[in-house]
Amino acid sequence: MKKRIIVVSAPSGGGKSVVANHILEHYKNVQFSVSATTRKMRKGEVNGKHYYFLSKEEFEEKIKENELVEYENIFSNYYGTLRSEIELAFEKQKQILFDIDVKGAYSIKKHYPEDTLLIFLKPPSLEVLKNRLINRKTETEEQLEKRIARAKMEIEMSADFDFVIVNDVLDETLKQVDDILSKFL
Ligand code: 5GP
Repeated sequence: MKKRIIVVSAPSGGGKSVVANHILEHYKNVQFSVSATTRKMRKGEVNGKHYYFLSKEEFEEKIKENELVEYENIFSNYYGTLRSEIELAFEKQKQILFDIDVKGAYSIKKHYPEDTLLIFLKPPSLEVLKNRLINRKTETEEQLEKRIARAKMEIEMSADFDFVIVNDVLDETLKQVDDILSKFL
């Protein structure tokens, strides 16, 4: 069955952006859902492309105005999906790609059960994940520990996803993603 919503979840540092970029490059009818967040912009990120970077007050205003389909507090920052991103994509007959956490993924599936495909990228081990995060050099030691603890929780919670791919060798991961998408897009 064809799906209009593809959610790719993975623990932080789990290789989501590479997979998301692959999908956006090769599937021209797929559009990225730009989330809102209160976290600080990282080097190389563009406001409106990777995220809408908001202040805490601006984000809370959006919650109040019911502009978010779902939101979570992750690592002491808000992250949320804007209703407008989904509505605009549907209007344009586009499929939409989400890079959101496991809880957010289940919320989207609950809102759009028939339309949503959930894919989880599982790190080969927590050790590998930790090394990826260390190499990324964007987190402090404390943030790193928080991300590893959350990764454990996300891996446990991912059991009900439609597909779980062990993201070890990138080419193999991308091949599995292509196999899945060829059936559902
Ligand atoms: P990062 O700070 O590394 O960009 O993202 C941290 C986590 O927040 C990742 O797991 C990412 O997928 C998740 N995330 C990003 N946007 C959203 C969103 O709109 N909703 C939810 N629930 N999680 C999000």
